[in-house]
Amino acid sequence: DGQPTRENENSRVLPAGIDSDTFDKAFDAVALVIGEENVSRTHEYGGLEGPQGEKWYGDHYEMRGAGRNTPSGAFRPKTVEEIQHIMKIANEYNLPLWVFSRGKNLGYGCTSGVEKGTVMLDLNRMKKIIEVNEEYAYAIVEPGVSFFDLHDYIKEPKIKLWISCPALGWGSVLGNTTERGFGYTQYGEHSQAQCGMEVVLPNGEIIRSGMGAMENSDMWALFKGGYGPSIDGLFFQSNLGIVTKMGIHLQPAPRHFVDCEVSVPNEEDLLALTSTIARLERSGVIQNHASISNSYRQTIFAGPDTWGPLFPYWAARKAVPYAVLNDIREAKGWGFWKAEFALYGSQHVCDAAWREAKEAFEVIPGVKFNATPQSESTLGGPLVPSEMIKGAIPHSGLPVLDPLELMKIRGKGGAHTCFSPLFPPNSRQLHQWYLRSKALVEEAGIDYFSDFHVYGRYVIAIIVLIYGPEDGPRIDKLYKDLMEDAAKESVSEYRTHIDYMDDIAGHYNWNDGAQRRFLQAVKDLTDPRGVLNQGKSGLWNAGKRKTTR
Ligand code: ADP
Repeated sequence: DGQPTRENENSRVLPAGIDSDTFDKAFDAVALVIGEENVSRTHEYGGLEGPQGEKWYGDHYEMRGAGRNTPSGAFRPKTVEEIQHIMKIANEYNLPLWVFSRGKNLGYGCTSGVEKGTVMLDLNRMKKIIEVNEEYAYAIVEPGVSFFDLHDYIKEPKIKLWISCPALGWGSVLGNTTERGFGYTQYGEHSQAQCGMEVVLPNGEIIRSGMGAMENSDMWALFKGGYGPSIDGLFFQSNLGIVTKMGIHLQPAPRHFVDCEVSVPNEEDLLALTSTIARLERSGVIQNHASISNSYRQTIFAGPDTWGPLFPYWAARKAVPYAVLNDIREAKGWGFWKAEFALYGSQHVCDAAWREAKEAFEVIPGVKFNATPQSESTLGGPLVPSEMIKGAIPHSGLPVLDPLELMKIRGKGGAHTCFSPLFPPNSRQLHQWYLRSKALVEEAGIDYFSDFHVYGRYVIAIIVLIYGPEDGPRIDKLYKDLMEDAAKESVSEYRTHIDYMDDIAGHYNWNDGAQRRFLQAVKDLTDPRGVLNQGKSGLWNAGKRKTTR
């Protein structure tokens, strides 16, 4: 069954400082609590299916190779009480754990921790949808609930709510939110839509945040604040606790919905586009965030029929030249950049907003528009995402897995990671960075796949780096070049792969890294043995920190 025997013990991966006997004793103790079938004594089996169907624990998109993040095993508890027991055992044996919910964070580390030999605390069996409240439009979920699960739960009884879903629907609603992930509806900023949490601390104690701190309050998923200092933020991209329940606000299903596209012809139009979108978002004309594709992304999303001229470059592991992309773009009548967003409400509201938005964009010479409306009246009932016309981007929150196929364009076993720095929407810095990063990516022989996300007050300018099975080391070098180049301008990321967490944390350095010192003090106090997610977001326990940290 894949469990190691005494014969193949030498190939066993163990956590640093833990010998085989201690490891076995700790695992025996946990197996008594959750059952041997919910324990993996090696990383080689027991995980949910990965991007190529693999069921082992680890980083399915490992860039540097050599198994630098290989876990030693996994626990799959089903209840909060089981997690509390596991935390007691982990503290007793100094066993390092790394919690995840569904492990679908492809490009960021999947089911592995920063340190080799960490034991995965896999919460995918905790699948309860505790409540969906239609009147107040919220859900309370456990970690194993995926976007598909929540969507299906709402779909059958035709509850008039829309979930917000990221590009792939198989991830965890709770896990994506703790990572500050986003989707594409009005409630797409998931960390902002979060309201109330239950958390198991590294010592096994449970706390509830916000109004949940009050016994029997009905307000847990309604009022985020509670009373006094709020603690929710401490558990985002964090190693300070295990989030076991979360309230999340959903969007009431609109009566009318319009998928909108705005294309601009020239590469130099980027800032005109981002600044106009951001202004319309700040004033509420556009209610969700817009994402912007460059010519390369438009070509990829147009499907395999448009990829013919690209294949030779992919086969030669080179970047597709802009001249080739320009030819495709001209033949198709596309702009250089295409922004996509949606409008929600009644037909009156959407028509007025679209008029207002078009007026604002019309100052950009050569701008083109496209709008696909869908209405209760044409569908003959509530707008149910699964019954609507599917757009390229899940503006209606419909979970999909289609984009996963795109990761294979540079060869079977292909992978991706994202470089995702933050900018003000109307800054020359954004434009200058775009040109510099474009040169770096091209130089590395990788295609520039822009997935820039524009909000009212910031842009997350994501470059999706898609690469083939042999390109890992190239991507690693490129990533470091991109980080270094951005950091010189005081620019950094909102989220990163496990391999770069220390580097990015180092960029958040005001007052000699005072924020990190505060968080380290909290970590040392609440997890003195350092058993939970060591190294997450660059946070380490005393004794584990390098001098540069
Ligand atoms: P998804 O499957 O939604 O992509 P994951 O389950 O892979 O997300 O989680 C991504 C990361 O988020 C994990 O590696 C971990 O750092 C953090 N995380 C996920 N779930 C939890 C949780 N329940 N409590 C605390 N942190 C979590």
